[in-house]
Amino acid sequence: MASLDTLDLKGKKVLIRVDFNVPLNEAREITDDSRMQAHVPTIKTVLSKGGKPILMSHLGRPKNGPSPELSLKHLQTHLQELTGVDVQFINDCIGEEVELVANQLPENQILLLENLRFHPEETKGDEAFAEALSRLADVYINDAFGTAHRAHASTAVIAKYFVGNKAFGRVLQSEIDNVNKVLKGGEKPVTAIVGGAKVSSKISILENLLDRIDNLVIGGGMAFTFIKAQGGNTGNSLIEDDYLETARTILKAAAEKNVEILLPVDSKIADQFSNEAETKISPSNDIPAGWMGLDAGPESIKALEAVLLSSKTILWNGPLGVFEFENFSAATKAAGELIVEATKKGAFSLVGGGDSVAAIKQFNMSDGVSYVSTGGGAMLEFLEGKTLPGIQAILD
Ligand code: AMP
Repeated sequence: MASLDTLDLKGKKVLIRVDFNVPLNEAREITDDSRMQAHVPTIKTVLSKGGKPILMSHLGRPKNGPSPELSLKHLQTHLQELTGVDVQFINDCIGEEVELVANQLPENQILLLENLRFHPEETKGDEAFAEALSRLADVYINDAFGTAHRAHASTAVIAKYFVGNKAFGRVLQSEIDNVNKVLKGGEKPVTAIVGGAKVSSKISILENLLDRIDNLVIGGGMAFTFIKAQGGNTGNSLIEDDYLETARTILKAAAEKNVEILLPVDSKIADQFSNEAETKISPSNDIPAGWMGLDAGPESIKALEAVLLSSKTILWNGPLGVFEFENFSAATKAAGELIVEATKKGAFSLVGGGDSVAAIKQFNMSDGVSYVSTGGGAMLEFLEGKTLPGIQAILD
């Protein structure tokens, strides 16, 4: 299979699907450019190999065609600053005029196309639209992990027009490589921490992980469905009664596969869902009526320490408490600190898929772990063991 390193890009037009879906404020200024920064290595590699980068992305969710506030033009100047080369912007992404500008693009310049989702055909995975995009370039690079789980025109359908001339960009390649370090036989012991609100949204992940890990830490709101399934009193804690049987099935499967399960033995409980609630520490399986578990307690954190500091591979998906409330953020913060410590001792650690990424950023710990995934929904589906259309389309 071709890669960014093996493809001959000299003088070629290289259409790169990036994820420039950055937050903009009222004045249309970029408030967090990390998604743009992430693609700079791919863009620079293409430039250094004499290729001419043509960048396409979506931005926000335009409903009825073009809307000026979601134009990628707002990113032009900053992209120029980040890459150090001139960036031309064109106010559409398909059509004769765009093809003309692409054909005349000089070396050492970047062409930035207008928001793909100004055309509703993009998200519909429309063939004709994908073919129109493909006419702009000789080579296709997909670097947008955040949309790799969608079979959109620019992320998947387009790839078939570039047989032998398509590859993953640096971001997408490193997401694949890093998640495979966990899913395809990480160094043992392998520990997964799966937390967050609901069991229902994490079942497929739990099932997929059981064959690949030694320890499974179940935390956050979803832990209480497991504790109730084991006969515990969970008070007003978040429970999904429809999933009690599923929880039992997962616990049974874990036992059969010799996966050690860690549920929080104690919890910081609250008399209401609020940062200002009355609190106390309680055994997680004996929470008084009217009270709810909003964070793991000190004994649970001690148990977490023992397992994490002896792990060689760690995957973290989902917070261990309502970390958005400062008074219920201790266990999530402790998990972050312990993962950083384990990483210092030589463990490989990956944080991915949703709110644990937000947590690790909030606690400024991103630099202390081995890898922080850039794609929420895409990482969840990857961890579920699904084949992502954006990845498959390059491999085909
Ligand atoms: P998820 O998107 O499923 O990963 O869930 C993340 C959310 O779970 C966060 O917003 C947390 O506040 C929430 N959460 C974590 N622990 C609890 C808990 N014990 N009770 C209710 N919600 C929780």
